Amino acid sequence: MNADLHCHSTVSDGQFAPADVARRAHAGGVTLWALTDHDELGGQHEARSTAEALGMKYLSGVEISVTWASRTVHIVGLGIDPTSSVLIDGLARTRSGRAARAEAIGEQLATLGVPNAYEGALKFVSNPDMISRTHFARFMVESGYCSSTQDVFTRYLGDGKAGFVPHRWARLSNAVSWIQAAGGEAVIAHPGRYDYSPVEFDAFFAEFIDLGGKAIEVVTGSHTPDQYREYADVARRFGFEASRGSDFHAPGEGRVDLGTLPPLPSDLKPVWERWL
Ligand code: AMP
Ligand code: MN
Ligand code: MN
Ligand code: MN
Repeated sequence: MNADLHCHSTVSDGQFAPADVARRAHAGGVTLWALTDHDELGGQHEARSTAEALGMKYLSGVEISVTWASRTVHIVGLGIDPTSSVLIDGLARTRSGRAARAEAIGEQLATLGVPNAYEGALKFVSNPDMISRTHFARFMVESGYCSSTQDVFTRYLGDGKAGFVPHRWARLSNAVSWIQAAGGEAVIAHPGRYDYSPVEFDAFFAEFIDLGGKAIEVVTGSHTPDQYREYADVARRFGFEASRGSDFHAPGEGRVDLGTLPPLPSDLKPVWERWL
């Protein structure tokens, strides 16, 4: 089983349409796939139909933006019903505010010597509801301000950097309950990316478990190999099931391509077994 349960299309901040991401996953050897666009289900039908035509198993997915203890975390929902009105309405509320935030990012970047970034970022956006920092990053690379999207986040747009504009996303309890209302399982995305203290991490994991959360990503394109080991230990300590996903957005933007990550440590329980 080559499961890749985290990636993005043009419906959020990926570079390829859902059908093209499906073809790339299949070409990369993926046999169980989920498209998990940020805060948006618009690609699910195309993703599933293309995946199934190619002979891949498919799980409907989403990645929800959450604010917990003043920091942004991402919660992936897997095996969801993409027609759930509770989930659809919750995601619509989460997306609202992205446009105003993007204008504020544009104003902030102008004060840093990067004029017209909002207009520039819009040229990279396919879904106007889903303008994200990634689109600003692509504009800044194309315009020569930075050498890579990673460089943009390191110097300008990463959390707390000079071009960063704080934003209030969904509550953890709401995101998990929308996923559960849609019949899915909530998974903590790339825990290694969050800048929490050990005490905060323990409280975060405990609250997630209280809400009914059962799984975390362990092997993800957003973790280093050291972090695979670190979060495998977290999974053992908290009794979490484990997930695996590339977090693919575009060639050259992430560390790994679809289907190419190492397998989960063999003693961990894969979250996807419940759907097989
Ligand atoms: P947003 O939802 O607009 O805050 O944008 C978040 C997106 O920016 C993430 O889903 C990633 O695609 C990208 N991103 C965030 N932080 C980084 C980082 N440090 N390096 C590269 N990409 C990042
Ligand atoms: Mn993204
Ligand atoms: Mn994420
Ligand atoms: Mn992602």
